[in-house]
Amino acid sequence: MNRIRILVLNAALSALDYRLPEGVAAPAGSVVMAPLGPRKVMGIVWDEGRLPGEEIAVERLRPILEVLPVPPLAAPLRRLIEWTADYYCAPLASVARMALASGGALGGPSTMTEYRLSGGVPERMTAQRHAAIEALAGQQGTMRELAGIAGVSEGVLRGLVNQGVIAPVTVKIDRPYAPADPDHAPPDLSPQQATVAGVLVGAVTARAFQPFLLDGVTGSGKTETYFEAVAQALRMGQQVLVLLPEIALTENFLARFAARFGAAPVLWHSSLKSTERRRAWRAIADGSAQVIVGARSALFLPYARLGLIVVDEAHEVSFKQDDGVRYNARDVAVMRARFESVPVVLVSATPALESLFMANQGTYQRLELPSRFGGACLPRIALVDLTREKPRSQRWLAAPLIEALKLRLERGEQSLLFLNRRGYAPLTLCRNCGHRFKCPSCSAWLVEHRLSSRLACHHCGFETRVPDTCPECGESDCLVACGPGVERIADEVRELFPEARLAVATSDTLSSPARAAAFIAAAENKAIDIIIGTQLVTKGFHFPDLTLVGVVDADLGLEGGDLRAGERTYSQIAQVAGRAGRAAKPGEVLIQTRHPDAPVIAALASGDRDGFYAAETESRRDAGAPPFGRWAAIILSSEDEKEAREAAHRLGQNKPGSDDLYVLGPAPAPLSLLRGRYRFRFLVNARRSAPLQKVLRDWIAAHSLPPGVRVGIDIDPYSFV
Ligand code: ADP
Ligand code: ZN
Repeated sequence: MNRIRILVLNAALSALDYRLPEGVAAPAGSVVMAPLGPRKVMGIVWDEGRLPGEEIAVERLRPILEVLPVPPLAAPLRRLIEWTADYYCAPLASVARMALASGGALGGPSTMTEYRLSGGVPERMTAQRHAAIEALAGQQGTMRELAGIAGVSEGVLRGLVNQGVIAPVTVKIDRPYAPADPDHAPPDLSPQQATVAGVLVGAVTARAFQPFLLDGVTGSGKTETYFEAVAQALRMGQQVLVLLPEIALTENFLARFAARFGAAPVLWHSSLKSTERRRAWRAIADGSAQVIVGARSALFLPYARLGLIVVDEAHEVSFKQDDGVRYNARDVAVMRARFESVPVVLVSATPALESLFMANQGTYQRLELPSRFGGACLPRIALVDLTREKPRSQRWLAAPLIEALKLRLERGEQSLLFLNRRGYAPLTLCRNCGHRFKCPSCSAWLVEHRLSSRLACHHCGFETRVPDTCPECGESDCLVACGPGVERIADEVRELFPEARLAVATSDTLSSPARAAAFIAAAENKAIDIIIGTQLVTKGFHFPDLTLVGVVDADLGLEGGDLRAGERTYSQIAQVAGRAGRAAKPGEVLIQTRHPDAPVIAALASGDRDGFYAAETESRRDAGAPPFGRWAAIILSSEDEKEAREAAHRLGQNKPGSDDLYVLGPAPAPLSLLRGRYRFRFLVNARRSAPLQKVLRDWIAAHSLPPGVRVGIDIDPYSFV
């Protein structure tokens, strides 16, 4: 029988049956094109009996059209796709699509046309053409990419192609990557490091599932140590996946990787050009890409010979995806390692409580690096009590921190001020009438960005110019900025130390790999005295002359009061503190707070990590929160507030409940309006034994909701807005 069931890449359809034409082979995992009405759809041939769906009568089966020329997705990846869809209550097709994340790689020719300047000049020069030519110097890419770079329409560029100013170039897309050499420049490991590396190398050699928690203080050489496991995988001809939480960190990582292995790793992230993406995808699928460094989406790629997974900075909340398929890459990484039968290493100086719990239970093997490499000491940490040391009005730095900055400037050392708030001020209001600037599509204040003279919504990206007059009362010169963002702290520092060289480091200023690289180079070359940054600068960076870290407002993260507020504050501040004194010179950390006795702050000051985790664990146990119980959030949203509210109430009338699962809500979500949609929320708390996903699926499936209402299910949520 040549009936096959296909996972169609369309969330609304998912499983459909087809016929395999005579003489065509398409084992499970094959990527195929199939007819659907008058259209063509892409799908993946699935294992018999694993996808639910009705059987169509034999005579009605249509033949598939084509098997695409890529290796079939292997069974471990198919199991991972099933597990992810099931656990996170997501459509199988949406998860599967992440594995096929390069349309170009799946068929097309192996060469493509890119464009670049030919050196010629147009017959008629316009301002727009001139600007485009300037912008494209040294660039090569597809029409669309070049149009993006030049900020003009593709039409303008086509005009230049017709005149020979821009010339087509044929590019081979799938050229191989330079090989990494496991023995290029191995370091001399300290005895501590060597012990840990030995265990990891052993696990790679054993080729079996084994989860590790590599728990080492900042600056202990965790990267150098797990690089030994990477080297072992390379020697064995296996692929390695290294997940990093932010693209901004990759520059730093790439340089270290290249120094150790003599070649760059293969990158995977959302801003790759389509050609780079295609090349990477094909090399991953045919096994020639050796080490892949990527954002969380790299987790679902079809590795041909995976031998090791590393999740660096594994505590980072950005591993949790909050739209589309809402998965936690840290957890899915462990599952993938399990299906692939390979070791996985979670690396962190401040592990997530869930990870520590698994280690304490013995589920994960814990590997420790308790001291800094090369005899560097951990920094000295002191609190600045803002209720006693009051900064001047409309200023945020207290005297002890100002003194410490001054001392560093005198000594020619670097300082880092940390405030997790982009922009100039989080709220702008009118002094005359009290009008507050709000986003038109979200229930959120607009954040002033003075560097770009804009008011911006950090939720939806809405931006507007800062007006000269109040839109409410019409007064001029009446707008007041409330509270500080990093730009405002930079102003304060500039006023205190006019000679100091400052750098504001946020996702606004380090928005591209090139800008991040320029920042790192400037810091390393001591062209910067004081860095003022958001969470972006809390990890990964190693600046030997940085000896002071000032935390401007340690209480900020505790205000929201969600489940992980304490843990997040602890890890953020411990991580940023870890930037100080990483080399020969000792480091100092000053933490400004109005609550020096709050458990998190006190634990940071005394360096009592174990005490903090123990207390946090107990409060999680009391709350039935992870890892002891589970939470889920269900958000109903609609552009029509009444429709959303009514749908939520209807769902609420039949909410499930039992001894081991209860549902709170519905209530307006804390962010009750987001991107123009009104949001109502249920929170579900369940014991680990409760069949949470099944209960939620059955509950929601029993209701038909109006087409304007969207339902989002978030299992193990990180965001409680
Ligand atoms: P972590 O990731 O634990 O914060 P890193 O791996 O960044 O630590 O190491 C801190 C610094 O010490 C880096 O500059 C690194 O190159 C250096 N280092 C660590 N171990 C060694 C070693 N065995 N030999 C030489 N340099 C090392
Ligand atoms: Zn908005």
